[in-house]
Amino acid sequence: MMPPDPRTTTTTTSTTTSTTSTAATSMIDAASVALPSTPPSASVACAAGKVAEPSSSAPAKKIMSPEEIREYAGKLDKMVQEAVNFQQKILTDTDDIAELYLALERIKKAPDPDVSSKWTAFWRTWGKSAIVPLKQFVDAENNKQNEQNKRNEQKLENQQKMAKGLEWKKEQDAAKKKERERLAQKHKQEKAALAKAHRRHFSNPDVLKSINEKLKSVVNEKPNEKPTLCTAVVVVEGTEPTMAFGTSSVGNHSPFQAFYRDKDGIIRCTKAAEVHAKVLEPLRATLAGIQKVEDWEVYVCAEVDAAVQLLLRGKRLEQIKTYATDFDLNYKERCAHCTQWATEF
Ligand SMILES: [Zn+2]
Repeated sequence: MMPPDPRTTTTTTSTTTSTTSTAATSMIDAASVALPSTPPSASVACAAGKVAEPSSSAPAKKIMSPEEIREYAGKLDKMVQEAVNFQQKILTDTDDIAELYLALERIKKAPDPDVSSKWTAFWRTWGKSAIVPLKQFVDAENNKQNEQNKRNEQKLENQQKMAKGLEWKKEQDAAKKKERERLAQKHKQEKAALAKAHRRHFSNPDVLKSINEKLKSVVNEKPNEKPTLCTAVVVVEGTEPTMAFGTSSVGNHSPFQAFYRDKDGIIRCTKAAEVHAKVLEPLRATLAGIQKVEDWEVYVCAEVDAAVQLLLRGKRLEQIKTYATDFDLNYKERCAHCTQWATEF
């Protein structure tokens, strides 16, 4: 015999709920919480993941055993408890809550022949009015909680990333500081080597004589000029520095004036330097690449003179560090051309 269709039943079973129920209004997403995926009714259709209340018109796919109904009632009991813990506003009357608990309790304790009909009655009374909205409420609350947990996790992850980043930055800074200290130490050693080499060179009467001659020729030719003596040094690790002395002023470079600028503005090797063009090419190209900003040419400086001498002695341009002085050997500021290419000692 078929059970009575709930949609046509008008029996009032509770003062707190509606007297009718329809399958369409009481679908519960059972997959998302601890509700079973089996229908709440002993004779109800079960859509995938959905729980429908009793409907005689739907084909019965699975009949719940009394034991399953009791288990399901136990889960509903917990779900209602969860909703109450979440301060839900659906059942505010404590009498209603108590009555719902009692109804579930009765199902759980009902003897086998009664449990199905009690279950059907329970859904008619509480399904649409309480269980469905409570379920939706609990799901929403749990989703909120999950969202919050996710945000908290993300926040924690970001904090950890930030801490890692700071740690990395600290290591980088420490490494940079160490490198700066190493370079400063190296520079100090190089300067000491330079000073030593200076003293030895300038205590040599021949060197002083040649410098004086250079100076004389510069002054004789261009009395108003203040020539620069440039000490160009190649530092070779573990050995004495190789030194060369250059002077500023065109026509006084030794052993020859190396470069000139042609009418098209291109810097070229002079006739005297042509035979060394290949060796001098790195310096020529470097000078060709700098901006002419001073009143004089870019290739007339003492640094160029000294670099030419060292290139002719087989040194490489990148090995050459220069130190500019006047003829009294006092440190002299570089011109705006040489600062563009010369490596400072
Ligand atoms: Zn210069």
